[in-house]
Amino acid sequence: KEELNMIQGALELRTKTVEDVMTPVSNCFMIHSDAVLDFNTMSEIMKSGYTRIPVYEDERSNIVNVLFAVDLTFVDPNDCIPLKTITQFYNHPVHFVFHNTKLDSMLEEFKKGKSHLAIVQKLNNEGEGDPFYKVLGLITLMDVIEKIIKSE
Ligand code: ATP
Ligand code: ATP
Repeated sequence: KEELNMIQGALELRTKTVEDVMTPVSNCFMIHSDAVLDFNTMSEIMKSGYTRIPVYEDERSNIVNVLFAVDLTFVDPNDCIPLKTITQFYNHPVHFVFHNTKLDSMLEEFKKGKSHLAIVQKLNNEGEGDPFYKVLGLITLMDVIEKIIKSE
């Protein structure tokens, strides 16, 4: 029964982690911080259909900003302005969470917070070098809700 599945899904919020339901970094639509908002870049963003787009510097594991598709409302592709002009103007905070965060706490954070997207990261302290944060993916409120609705 559907109701039982939803109760099951809600109960699983206590045990499942953000890593279980996130969109892995390899499937994330992101944009390089040095991008120029020309016709090509703008149409790729529009075609992606995503509302929130992480902005990375140098490598995809280094997220420095989030661009909202609505931030582009008054941007003219003919002006070819740097993406940085826009991200620095809006300067949306980037919300990071640890990969082992349980979905019930994530849901609470999404309810309190202003943003409904978080970047999932992990502290990598394997190997010789200094420990560093590694980005595993992104999670939105929708991923948590889907876990409740589509539990099996
Ligand atoms: P909204 O529904 O608020 O317009 P959206 O459609 O961009 O936003 P969500 O509905 O929050 O995104 O999420 C739908 C799915 O898309 C989720 O699985 C989420 O992890 C994924 N997602 C969201 N943003 C991105 C992105 N930039 N790249 C890849 N996947 C994303
Ligand atoms: P969702 O569709 O998943 O509920 P959302 O569209 O509300 O998400 P959030 O990521 O929750 O977007 O919001 C991020 C920030 O953007 C918040 O500070 C919110 O107040 C702001 N924001 C979202 N939509 C608007 C809007 N239409 N006008 C002004 N600010 C907005």
